[in-house]
Amino acid sequence: MNAPPSNPAALRAPAKATISFTRACNLNCRFCYADCNAAPGPDELDLHAWKRVLDELIELGAICFLFEGGEPLARADFIDLVSHVSDRALCRVRTHGALIDPAMAQRLQAANTGTVLIDLFAADPAVHDFLTGTPGSFQRTIAGVRALQDVGLPVEFLAILNRHNIDGMQRYLDFAHGLGIDTVGILRPYPIGRARRRWQEMCPSLDAMTAMLDALVIPDGLKLNQSWHPNNANCCWQMAAVDPDGRSIGCAYLREYVDYGSVVEDGFMATWNDPLYRKLRAGQVEKSCTTCEAREMSRGGCRSSAFALTGRWDAPDPFDITLNGGIDVRSLP
Ligand code: SF4
Ligand code: SF4
Repeated sequence: MNAPPSNPAALRAPAKATISFTRACNLNCRFCYADCNAAPGPDELDLHAWKRVLDELIELGAICFLFEGGEPLARADFIDLVSHVSDRALCRVRTHGALIDPAMAQRLQAANTGTVLIDLFAADPAVHDFLTGTPGSFQRTIAGVRALQDVGLPVEFLAILNRHNIDGMQRYLDFAHGLGIDTVGILRPYPIGRARRRWQEMCPSLDAMTAMLDALVIPDGLKLNQSWHPNNANCCWQMAAVDPDGRSIGCAYLREYVDYGSVVEDGFMATWNDPLYRKLRAGQVEKSCTTCEAREMSRGGCRSSAFALTGRWDAPDPFDITLNGGIDVRSLP
């Protein structure tokens, strides 16, 4: 086997990590990446094991965690985990928000939570509720947002783009702005979990996505993040992620494609040195555009999308209009 390529900007250890805390969730989204269930999975790490994993990552130098699920607040011990590390690392929480009442908002604030990222799919309640598979979820999420704002926690919105919400994105930005949200992310779709099984239903054409993004009028004072390359770089060089069972997966968007080992049984650093993990961190992509070439390690776009749509780790990202190469992103191989 060939040795993995060396990385001239190699990190000794990750500075941040995504923590997929649980597979449990009380919603039932059509395109759930986690393919979640109502109850936690049988092999999920308990609170004690999670504390040890996060302690190890902090000892290695991690200074920021993004907690997600499933729905992290679906497990009653989640706030205890945030409290355990929040004086040593920035704790960002991604949640659907529908379990946040004023008391929970207070607990999140008391636990020293950083930004709360709310998954809201649309400004139209009917569209959001259709996508979550849960009538009334829109109203509960907005109530959660208001509770968070009342305790002074910073809130951002995230919308995963799909064919059901693409026509409402301008209204979505205006709605977020009207609620006092100052940062919104419109995220490209990924074919993982239930989204893979419903990919034809979910994914718009690249032309339709590009036209929508180009036509948006961003309200004054609103920051729009979007995850189409090259606006969003190849970030494999710096990423770490751990799934609910304690498996090291590099990035939450790689969860179905890689398994670098158990951080509980082997320790994180053993997984960090997995040959495929090292190869992806090295940023060896066969083709890139000049904008990216100027940004070392950012070239070629997302490795998850490249692999999902081509089967090759070093292929260019088909979600980039420059690098697309005639691939229809609506069709999986
Ligand atoms: S809120 Fe998140 S975890 Fe829950 S069903 Fe929707 S996508 Fe899955
Ligand atoms: S798989 Fe994509 S989103 Fe994840 S770290 Fe790599 S480039 Fe970034």
